[in-house]
Amino acid sequence: MPFHVMLIPTLGCPANCSYCWSSEEKSPLMSIETIKEVVEWLKIFRDDSVTFTFHGGEPLLAGADFYREALPLLVEGLTPRQIAFAIQTNLWKLTPEIAEIFAKYNIPIGSSLDGPQELNDLQRGKGYYEKTMRGYEIAKAHGLNVRFITTFTSHSIKFKEDIFNFYLEKGLILKLHPCLPSLKDDNPDKWALDPKEYGELLIYLLDKYLENMGRIEVMNIDNMCKGVFTGRGTVCTFVDCMGDTFAVGPDGGIYPCYRFVGLPEYVMGNVYDHPTMADLAQSDAWKLMHQYKEYVDTACGKCAHIKYCRGGCPYNAIVPTDGKIKGVDPHCVAYKMVFDEITSRVNEEMFSSSGMENMFQPQSMKSARSGIMSIILKRT
Ligand code: SF4
Ligand code: SF4
Repeated sequence: MPFHVMLIPTLGCPANCSYCWSSEEKSPLMSIETIKEVVEWLKIFRDDSVTFTFHGGEPLLAGADFYREALPLLVEGLTPRQIAFAIQTNLWKLTPEIAEIFAKYNIPIGSSLDGPQELNDLQRGKGYYEKTMRGYEIAKAHGLNVRFITTFTSHSIKFKEDIFNFYLEKGLILKLHPCLPSLKDDNPDKWALDPKEYGELLIYLLDKYLENMGRIEVMNIDNMCKGVFTGRGTVCTFVDCMGDTFAVGPDGGIYPCYRFVGLPEYVMGNVYDHPTMADLAQSDAWKLMHQYKEYVDTACGKCAHIKYCRGGCPYNAIVPTDGKIKGVDPHCVAYKMVFDEITSRVNEEMFSSSGMENMFQPQSMKSARSGIMSIILKRT
C-alpha cells in the first residue's frame, strides 16, 4: 500500500444525508497551524511519497484561503518527495476560485450521487442533486476529473437497474459503496445494505458491465477482477491498510483512517507531538488494528480469497462491535460471493477452448459477449 494520509478539515457538513455516520454539527475547522504541524510530523515519521486526501464531513467548508495556503505548505514542506492530492466532496461549496486552486495541483475529485435525481434526493435530501451538479459543472469547466460514488442502501437496491442506466447514459464511471449501519442513529440498520444483497448486487453489476463493455467502467468490479488475477488487493478494503493509511482530524488527532475520526477511543496520537511510528504503536487503536490483521490470518486462513481480500475493512469489523474483534468484516458474505463468481468464470474462460481462442483473437474476431478476461486485460 502506498503511504496515504487523509486530512479531515472538519466533520461538519451542509448536507443531511439520511444514512450519514460521519458528519458532526459544530465540528471545528482545521487551522493552517495544524497543516504546518502535519508537515513537521511527516518529516520525521516517514520519508516516502505521500498522497493526501481531503475528506470530511465536507472538506470544502474549509474555504479557498485554507487550500491556497495548505497545498503549497504540504508540497514545499515535504520536498523532494512526491506529493499527490485528492479530495472527497459533495461539491456544493465548489467555487471557481477553489476549482482554480485545485486545477493548479491537478487534484482528482471524488463526489457522491446515489443515481437519478429523485432517488438521490430521497436519500440525501431535497436539493442535493442540483447543488452537486452545479459544482460538477464548475469542476468540469476547470478541467478537473470528477468521479462519483453511489451508496446503495436497503431502499435504492430496488432500483439498481435505474442507477446503472443513469451512470451508463451520463457516461460516468460507477463506483459503489454499500450503506453501513449508522452508529449515530437509533435504528442503525434502517438504510444499511444486507451483505447478501450486496453480493448479489456485485454479481448483477458484473453481468451488466460485461454486457456493456466499452461503454461504462465499474471500478469495484475492475478492482476485484484485478485482485483475483494478480493475487493482491488493489484498494484499501482488500489489503492490510494499517500502518500505511492514517487520518488527521480537525484538531491534529491521528487516527487509523477517516472512518474513525471523531471517535476518541481511536486516537493514536497528535501531529503537534510529532509522534514516531513506535510512539503510535503504543496506542490502543494501533494495537487493535494489528490484532485484527493477526485475527484475519487465522479466521480467513482457509479461505481461497485471503490474499486479495484480507478480511475486508477493519472499521466494518471492529467499530460496530464496540472495539471487540468478534469476526471479520460483515461484508465477507458479499466478498465471497463475488470472488467465487469471478474465480469460477476466469477458470472456465481460461480452460475452455472457446475462451482461449477468444482471449487471443483480435478484437474484431472476438465473440460478442465479453468475459472476465476482457476486464482484466483492459486494466493490466
Ligand atoms: S479502515 Fe477500512 S476504509 Fe479505512 S483504510 Fe482501512 S480498509 Fe480502508
Ligand atoms: S472472503 Fe471472507 S473469509 Fe475470505 S478472506 Fe474475505 S473476509 Fe476472509
